[in-house]
Amino acid sequence: MEQDCIFCKIANGHIPSATVYEDEMFRVILDLSPATKGHALVLPKRHFRNIFDIDETTASRLFVVAAKVARAMKKSLGCEGLNIVQNNEEIAGQTVFHFHLHIIPRYADDGQKILWNPGTSDPEVQKEIACKISEALDADK
Ligand code: 5GP
Ligand code: ZN
Repeated sequence: MEQDCIFCKIANGHIPSATVYEDEMFRVILDLSPATKGHALVLPKRHFRNIFDIDETTASRLFVVAAKVARAMKKSLGCEGLNIVQNNEEIAGQTVFHFHLHIIPRYADDGQKILWNPGTSDPEVQKEIACKISEALDADK
């Protein structure tokens, strides 16, 4: 746990929350300012700032939990679809600096738009970018 981290306190049960799921690694809670009905946050109990420092075990179990919760939401809330959103650093909209995954159920006429503006691509530039990333991945092996 990290001092003064609100999500450490919530994830570890020191601050009460509307919990929908809990196991030894995660707590899934309802968001305080939900985008739609059932908007939930998957919180690891260990403190990670975001995707840049999350450990492999937590990362690999995260989507198992997310998929479980997603299916339960579909069954219980009747959402037609669902968005998974995960913000990393201020530039990308992160406001709470303890890793969390948003699960946002979607309903007809829910008034939300979780979209981006599509850009354009050039095959040569794409090749260069792909090379850069895969070289960094190789260096990390
Ligand atoms: P971020 O912008 O960092 O991806 O998302 C932070 C989310 O945490 C926001 O959707 C915000 O409503 C939610 N949030 C912030 N503080 C609390 C809190 O104390 N309790 C709960 N349940 N959600 C919170
Ligand atoms: Zn924390």
